[in-house]
Amino acid sequence: MAGQSLSEPGHQHCGDCMSAHLPLKQGSRLVLASHNKGKLAEFAALLAPYGVEVVSAGELNLPEPDETALTFEGNARIKAEAAAKATGLPALADDSGLCVSALGGAPGIYSARWAGPDKDFAGAMQRIQQGIGGDEREAWFISVLCLAFPDGMTECFEGRIDGTITPEPRGAAGHGYDPIFVPEGETRTFAEMSDAEKNAISHRARAFEAFRKECLG
Ligand code: IMP
Repeated sequence: MAGQSLSEPGHQHCGDCMSAHLPLKQGSRLVLASHNKGKLAEFAALLAPYGVEVVSAGELNLPEPDETALTFEGNARIKAEAAAKATGLPALADDSGLCVSALGGAPGIYSARWAGPDKDFAGAMQRIQQGIGGDEREAWFISVLCLAFPDGMTECFEGRIDGTITPEPRGAAGHGYDPIFVPEGETRTFAEMSDAEKNAISHRARAFEAFRKECLG
């Protein structure tokens, strides 16, 4: 599935206020509402060709809000809105995770939390294997990007990639749950692919493409 723009319950967004904000102009400043160095580098590189100046939440000493929503979109919006409100600048946040069919969509929004403060992804992947039990191995990664403006307007974009969970972790590249996820149409896990191969099809790349089309002109 390609990236898509999400509907926004509760937000009065119309053609006029959209066109007043978008596309982001060359030279405009954008806060990346993340403290994760890997994500910051990835988004800074993706945004570089569009002449948007990026500044990170960490550089501005912004606090990390609690991710209290029950959806990826809700948590991405919490992070983006908090940064936009605190800085008076447009802010971009993302929330992502792995959903496993046999586990009713878990770990989902709890993907990072399943690994705990020590980021024990070996343990989290084992927990998934044990939970699956049978042959139902379908899974998907989701990434939702949310762009928020200081006046409260938000726009969210979702990217998804479907695939299957391998019986054993394979590969050493990537991060998180990459060693147990084989994307549809592939035989290798994300952790057996190069960064470029993964980034050509990943959930994050698809969400970014939907964002790019609408927000970067
Ligand atoms: P977030 O920082 O709240 O968005 O947490 C996302 C979590 O989902 C990460 O810590 C990983 O556990 C997992 N995740 C998201 N995207 C990927 C990916 O591309 N590969 C592997 N794990 C991922």
